Amino acid sequence: MNLGKLVLDLIYPPRCPFCGRVLEVWEEEGLCHRCQKTLPWQLEVGKQVDFCARCLSPLWYRGSVRRGMRRFKFQGGQIHARLFGMLMAQCLHDQWGEEVDGITWVPVSRRRLGQRGFDQCQLLAREVGKYLGVEVVPTLEKVRNTKQQSRIPTPSARQANVMGAYAVLDGIDLTGKRMVLVDDVVTSGATLGECAACLRMAGAEEVIGLTLARAR
Ligand SMILES: [Zn+2]
Repeated sequence: MNLGKLVLDLIYPPRCPFCGRVLEVWEEEGLCHRCQKTLPWQLEVGKQVDFCARCLSPLWYRGSVRRGMRRFKFQGGQIHARLFGMLMAQCLHDQWGEEVDGITWVPVSRRRLGQRGFDQCQLLAREVGKYLGVEVVPTLEKVRNTKQQSRIPTPSARQANVMGAYAVLDGIDLTGKRMVLVDDVVTSGATLGECAACLRMAGAEEVIGLTLARAR
């Protein structure tokens, strides 16, 4: 541990991203002991999503997972991308295991990026890439603003909401590549499916969805 980190740890002690408790020195993984035991781990082998081989998620989206993600997105909790990315990388490793060629993410709109100052899925993708030693590449842009998916009640309306909302960036060729597509939460899978369709049209051989959490 270097001195700079030690001083920072004293001023801003590292906290568990899920329950907010200050971590003990031995809880080095960045997740507190209690949450490790009690978090709603998602043990089913993924969810079926259009144009994806599968969508994997280490956690269910409820309780402290939901609160942790809100902190991450809205309350300056970007530092937690590191632990979240590690949990996602571990999940991909355990539940998929096969090699992948690249990692990309579901982008936010330019307007949202301006408001928030960062793209949460890009942060997650970057951390997943670090853990897996796989290149992280921007491939998509959001070309149309959409309503928040969580406010739309039915799957078919969700699908309509995101239809045509994403496009592949100029000059991207994914021919023959197996790509991991990162998002924060999967609910109906409409957004991931729409983005995966774009990647497949750009030549991707296979797309594996990967999110931190899965909502029922
Ligand atoms: Zn905790």
